Amino acid sequence: MLGHGSFGTVHKVRWLGVEVAMKTFQGSSTQDFLREVSILEGLRHPYILSLLWYKTDARKCQIIMELMDGDLYSLMQERMEECGNGGPPFSISEATHMMLQVAEGMLFLHEKKIVHRDLKSQNILVKRMKYKEVGFEHVHVKVADFGLSKTKARSTTYSNQTLNQGTTRWMAPELIRMSSAMDDLAVKHPFKVDAFSFGMVCFEILTGEVPFSGLRSYEIIQTVLRGGRPQLPDQIPDRLRYLIEACWSSEPSKRPRFDDICAELRHLSCAHFMTAET
Ligand code: ATP
Repeated sequence: MLGHGSFGTVHKVRWLGVEVAMKTFQGSSTQDFLREVSILEGLRHPYILSLLWYKTDARKCQIIMELMDGDLYSLMQERMEECGNGGPPFSISEATHMMLQVAEGMLFLHEKKIVHRDLKSQNILVKRMKYKEVGFEHVHVKVADFGLSKTKARSTTYSNQTLNQGTTRWMAPELIRMSSAMDDLAVKHPFKVDAFSFGMVCFEILTGEVPFSGLRSYEIIQTVLRGGRPQLPDQIPDRLRYLIEACWSSEPSKRPRFDDICAELRHLSCAHFMTAET
């Protein structure tokens, strides 16, 4: 077994001679399964997890996906244990490159009119390429778990039930508000909820901590609605700080789109590379 989530379990299996990941859902999660599959089917992008095959019957549903080495959250925990000094899991240059990969995957989803709505480090899978001789590891990331996605084409409104399923720590304020009372900001700017969660993922990548660590769900809700955000580390580049803070804007229309986020991260990646070279 590779892991389990709220909708099913994931196993490593051999399929047509190759090792793949198989997710199995039972009983009442069938509708969630079909929703997830219909979204994943046909999507091909280097930074999006590929669905290879699926099968459903009255009792259970199965999907075959490309096999990854685990999720980003677990990788960060492992890296921090290895460091042993409570330091961040990645260098700034590695972190920026990782954020760029996630942003490229999200840009692709948004171009396909898909809102993820549950972007967090546990839903980002990693492929680790280790170069032992030089003590270097390259991490390729892929955005996964579209269980809560919904194509804008299919629906421009969100039901309270669906909104309630997102994870509060990463959730945009308008989405939190919408789960208790209607707030039409999320409907007017449906894609911007992902920019907010992306800011939280950047915070995780930079610190190795979940957002609002130590706070309970109701405390997080109060904090986010009052405009409170996690404390970013002091030593990050100013432009990266401004980008993440823009993603965290309380006003969805002020959050950047993923094409702008990618452009900024490409610039930052390149600038960091040039500085490191000279
Ligand atoms: P939830 O569905 O509740 O949001 P989740 O995203 O963690 O939770 P799953 O998608 O069922 O749940 O995945 C469970 C775990 O299985 C993941 O955290 C990951 O570690 C592992 N996993 C999932 N898909 C793959 C894959 N394609 N390759 C390798 N590991 C995977």
